[in-house]
Amino acid sequence: MGQGAAVKGPVVIVGAGHAGFQLATSLRQAGFADPIHLINDEAHLPYQRPPLSKAYLKGTGGPETLMFRPQKFYSDQNIDLVYDRAVAVHRDARNVLLASGATLDYGHLVFATGARNRLLDIPNANLPDVRYLRILDDSESLRTLLAGAKRVVVIGAGFIGLEFAATARIKGLEVDVLELGARVMARAVTAEISDYFQKQHADAGVRIHLGVQATSIEADGAKVTGVSLSDGRHIPTDLVVVGVGVLPNVEIASEAGLAVASGIVVDEYLLTSDPHISAIGDCALFASPRFGGTLRLESVQNATDHARCVAARLTGDAKPYDGQPWFWSDQGNDKLQIAGLTTGYDQVVLRGDPAQKAFSAFCYKEGRLVGIESVNRAGDHMFGRRLLAAEGTIDPGKAADLNFDLKSALN
Ligand SMILES: Cc1cc2nc3c(=O)[nH]c(=O)nc-3n(C[C@H](O)[C@H](O)[C@H](O)COP(=O)(O)OP(=O)(O)OC[C@H]3O[C@@H](n4cnc5c(N)ncnc54)[C@H](O)[C@@H]3O)c2cc1C
Repeated sequence: MGQGAAVKGPVVIVGAGHAGFQLATSLRQAGFADPIHLINDEAHLPYQRPPLSKAYLKGTGGPETLMFRPQKFYSDQNIDLVYDRAVAVHRDARNVLLASGATLDYGHLVFATGARNRLLDIPNANLPDVRYLRILDDSESLRTLLAGAKRVVVIGAGFIGLEFAATARIKGLEVDVLELGARVMARAVTAEISDYFQKQHADAGVRIHLGVQATSIEADGAKVTGVSLSDGRHIPTDLVVVGVGVLPNVEIASEAGLAVASGIVVDEYLLTSDPHISAIGDCALFASPRFGGTLRLESVQNATDHARCVAARLTGDAKPYDGQPWFWSDQGNDKLQIAGLTTGYDQVVLRGDPAQKAFSAFCYKEGRLVGIESVNRAGDHMFGRRLLAAEGTIDPGKAADLNFDLKSALN
C-alpha cells in the first residue's frame, strides 16, 4: 500500500483495548466498508481502563458501566469482534493465526496489543493475595479483596500504585506504599508535583516508604502475612498490590520478523517496515518528528490519537502522527493533569499555590515551554494543550503571575 492510497481487503486489529476499539470505530466513521476483525483476548466487550484504579475500584457499578459501546454497536457497525487470541502472524500469506486454530486474512494488520504488568520477582510473589491491576478482572477481584482486608502494602509509587493506595485508604484500610526511588512518580513528574502528592497521601494516612525495596513476601502457608524490606524492616499485611511498571506486548511482532526495541518499531506514520502492518498505542515505539527520536507512551490520548491517525491513513488520508501528549491521574480528591512531555526540562515555574491545593508546574527547556503539570487547575491544563499543540510558549514570568490571563498568550 502506498501511504496515500486507501487499503483494500480486511483490516485485522490485534487487541481490543483503547487503541483497537478506536481504530475499528474511526475506520467505519471514515467510510471504510471492507471487513474489520477486532481480536479481543479478554472476556468482556471493549472497555475503558482508567476507572479500574479509580471510580470503578471505589464504586459498586457492574462491568457494563465501563464498556465503550454495547454489543449492538459492533453488529450495527459490522465490526467482527473475535473473542480469541492472536498467536502468530504469517506475513507471506498475510494472515493471523488464532489460539483456536482459525486464521484471519488481512489486507492490513494493526498491532494494538498494549502492555502487560511487569511481574515482581521475589520469594512468595506468586501467592493469591499478591495482586496486579491492569484488566477489569483484576479490579473486580481487588474490590472484593479490599472489602475483606485490613491492611495493604502497595509496591511501587507510580500512578496506578498511588491511585490504588488512595482508594484503599478511603475504604478504611491501613496502607503502606514502598518505593525504590527517592520520590513518588519520579519518572513521570517534577519534584514539585511529587512532593505535593506525597504530602496529600501522608495527610490521608498513607505511609510512604522511599528508597526501599521489597525483598520477600512473608506468608503463613498460602496466606500473606507481611512484606520484608531491604532495610531490614518487616511490614505486616494481608494484601499486596504491585505496580512496578509494564512491558509492551511485542512478542508476536518480533516472531514475525518485525523490528522490536522497547516497543514495536514504527515510523512517523505508525507503519512498521512491512507496508501491510501498523502498530498503535502502548505497544508502539514511534518516530516523532515533533519531539525528535522515538517515543513509547502509555496513555489513553496516545492510544486513541494513534488509532485516528492510522484510520485516516488506511482510508486514504495519510499524515504523519503529530499528537500532543496529555494525561491525567486522580488520587484521592486531587486531579493531576499533564500536557506535553515534561521530561528533560531545566526550569520549573509554579503558577498558583500548593498550599491552596491548586497549582501548576510549567516546565521549560532552554527557555521554551515543554509541558505543564496541573493539580486541580483544569484551565491551565487546557491552556497548555492548546499552546503546545500550536508549538507556542509563554514567558516564565507571565506563567507564574496569577494576574496574567493565560488566554491572551494563545493569540
Ligand atoms: C489501572 C489503569 C489505570 C490507568 N489510568 C490512566 C489514566 O488515568 N489516564 C491515562 O491516560 N491512561 C491511563 N492508563 C493507561 C491507559 O489505559 C493505556 O495507555 C491504554 O489502555 C493503552 O491502550 P492500548 O489499546 O494500547 O492497550 P490496552 O488498552 O492495554 O489494550 C490492549 C489489548 O490487547 C490485548 N492483547 C494483547 N495481546 C493480544 C493478542 N495476542 N491477541 C489478542 N489480544 C491481545 C490485551 O489483552 C488488551 O485487551 C491506565 C491503565 C491502567 C491499567
